[in-house]
Amino acid sequence: MSHAIEPVPKKFRPAPEHTASPDDPEAFWKKELARASTSAHSLLQRLDLLHLINETDQETDFTCLATDTYIDKIKTGDPNDPLLLQILPLNKEHDENIQSAGSTDPVGDIEALASQGLIHKYHGRALLISTGACAIHCRYCFRRHYPYQQASYSSKALHDVTHYLEQHTGIEEIILSGGDPLVLDNNKLSGLLAKLETIEHIKTLRIHTRIPVVLPGRINNGLLDLLQSSRFHIVMVIHSNHANELQQTECTNLHRLHHAGVTLLNQSVLLKGINDNADILVELSKRLFQCKTLPYYLHLLDPVTGAMHFDAGTEKALDLKTEMERQLPGYLVPRLVQEIAGNKSKTAIFRI
Ligand code: SF4
Repeated sequence: MSHAIEPVPKKFRPAPEHTASPDDPEAFWKKELARASTSAHSLLQRLDLLHLINETDQETDFTCLATDTYIDKIKTGDPNDPLLLQILPLNKEHDENIQSAGSTDPVGDIEALASQGLIHKYHGRALLISTGACAIHCRYCFRRHYPYQQASYSSKALHDVTHYLEQHTGIEEIILSGGDPLVLDNNKLSGLLAKLETIEHIKTLRIHTRIPVVLPGRINNGLLDLLQSSRFHIVMVIHSNHANELQQTECTNLHRLHHAGVTLLNQSVLLKGINDNADILVELSKRLFQCKTLPYYLHLLDPVTGAMHFDAGTEKALDLKTEMERQLPGYLVPRLVQEIAGNKSKTAIFRI
């Protein structure tokens, strides 16, 4: 399953949309996405932090990107805000001394490509890179170097993808990933689901998405109807790293998804300086539970070049897990895991 593909710069943003009106829910979220902040300068200016501009990388291929909704949750004037630190491109992303331990494909995605955009690593599950677009650029992203232009699903790849899935009858779960699959609008998503639903042995659709956290307007009635009417058991894994990301609107939307029959889970990445603190992780778990979402995984950082400064280390992670176990019921303690390229499942991290 090996494909030699050269990385290309990411071009994540979809085409601008100019036709939004309050009674057009699809155009509404597309309009917010189209006006998302795309420069460190404008972000810092808006947050009264322009004095930090010399610490930022304004030339990066992996551009700054964040929605108004997300930026509104950042405290003005606070250079250490945990949400700001997730989106601000810093010069240290290119510091050789820090970044040399990372790689451009830390979890072995390219090696596991079974068809264009289809990654088959684990028994019973296959993952579809349904788009390269996102509503936010998380600086720790393990796919920040992924060659989306050549190795994402597209309508041209549909035949090969469905053929592979049809032939592999052991695949019971399809995981939509990206990029962010909910950047696809309801029409595109509906077409994709309709195709996948024709493959009888697929029972579960899992959607990995940051959208409920960064673009809550995307969770519209059309999406809820689409998910509710699918024959699949739908699992949505939101990616929240800090309780500040889950304010009232986000929590209300998660309740709506829950009432639409969606199983809600969360996975976080342990990020130095952002959430590597027991009180923060405990608060996140409690907040997720209020929002009908169970903490599923706490990931050690995938060692990707450009993000190694977020690495909190395994020992710290184990200490944090012990403290979470002390403070929380078991069902609110996420599994501490690491994805190791070539392994047939996530690797649980324990203290021996
Ligand atoms: S972590 Fe997810 S939402 Fe963030 S940049 Fe990567 S793919 Fe996009």
